[in-house]
Amino acid sequence: MTNSVQRFTLENLHTRGEWVSLEETWQKIQDTNSNYPPAVRNVLGEALAAISLLAESLKFDGSLTLQIRGTQPVTMLVVQANSNAGIRGIAHWQGDIPDKTSFKQLFGTGTLVISVENTQKKGQQKGERYQSLVSLNGENLAECFKEYFAQSEQLKTQLWLAADESRVAGLMLQSLPESKLDKVAQADNWTHATVLAETIKKQELLTLDSETLLNRLYHDEELRLYEPKNVHFECSCSQQKIEDTIFSLGEKEANDIVIEHGEISINCEFCNTKYQLDAVDVNRLFSESKVTNNNKTLH
Ligand SMILES: [Zn+2]
Repeated sequence: MTNSVQRFTLENLHTRGEWVSLEETWQKIQDTNSNYPPAVRNVLGEALAAISLLAESLKFDGSLTLQIRGTQPVTMLVVQANSNAGIRGIAHWQGDIPDKTSFKQLFGTGTLVISVENTQKKGQQKGERYQSLVSLNGENLAECFKEYFAQSEQLKTQLWLAADESRVAGLMLQSLPESKLDKVAQADNWTHATVLAETIKKQELLTLDSETLLNRLYHDEELRLYEPKNVHFECSCSQQKIEDTIFSLGEKEANDIVIEHGEISINCEFCNTKYQLDAVDVNRLFSESKVTNNNKTLH
């Protein structure tokens, strides 16, 4: 299976992990913009692997967004995953980008922003949002995450990521809390687990199935693999969200756009869906709101 995320534990090392490999889902995301220069495409792929791994620890209905705000030539890269393992992503860049452009050269002095949005209605308040920012201080995306984890995760966490034209893959390790173990023993376990993971070559991560890969790395450990979960391409855009955005512009501004362009046309960059609203639609949008407001006053 090559569109899945899979949990595993290394029982004797008190370590848990996630493995991800995407093929068809990755193709669908590339199809929305087939012009990605390979260097940009690979970081986008690695970011999608990372977000798929991280979203597995979401304990509520919501979404997780990873954004890299770069300076030059990649100005923005954004990937998002929801709690149903739906992912999407895009990148913006300028000019020609040679294939061997390094991660640092792609983004310049950028920032990595991770946001968590809770859309759950019960328990916590709907729409709660948390954001963490770290500077891009690493030779690659996985290295930049080290600083993020050091700041935000209570559990020691590390990622390994890889992407090419046909696949993206990733591995995440997390050190479990020291329950019965003392700190020194748990630190030794963590070192052992991560040193072994460091031996993976990108090609192995991209091509091996979870069982082969993990058995190769951890053949002497108590490995337990859980059922894989499907990761699919999913865009959260909708007619309603587009109408809400236009409504927030205000009636005058919306009408001005219609007068100038004949309609309001918005293209979703994540999935290429085109939303078009003409004068009649815009009129309906604002008159519906007037009816709703009048009703509110009457009640
Ligand atoms: Zn969309």
